[in-house]
Amino acid sequence: MSDCLFCKIISGEIPSSCVYEDDQVFAFNDIDPQAPVHFLVIPKEHISGADAITSENSAVVAHIFEVIANLAKKHKLDGFRVVSNCGQSAGQTVMHLHFHVLSGRDMTWPPG
Ligand code: AMP
Ligand code: ZN
Repeated sequence: MSDCLFCKIISGEIPSSCVYEDDQVFAFNDIDPQAPVHFLVIPKEHISGADAITSENSAVVAHIFEVIANLAKKHKLDGFRVVSNCGQSAGQTVMHLHFHVLSGRDMTWPPG
């Protein structure tokens, strides 16, 4: 999608601090970290959010969680939280499906 910030990050048009990439997914550090470790994992295919996951595109979501588990092991994360905000009222600001991975501090529950 030409006007999508995260599609531009995937293409390299906008620079990012990449932590992992393969043919299906891209992961990079959040520009405004909310924890000592805060990166985003996104599908390379433009999917607008968690409400746009279908039987046709859902395989990448399983792959994203496999990548998250591998990155957690690689970086020896001692507990982490995965968050996907969906819709404006839930705090989604970029309309390209993404999973926040947060770690390195105690988390509170429920989230705000
Ligand atoms: P959300 O608010 O759940 O849609 O998450 C979007 C996230 O993208 C926020 O945590 C932002 O800090 C992050 N973000 C926005 N622009 C960039 C960028 N250029 N590079 C890295 N992260 C970004
Ligand atoms: Zn996009």
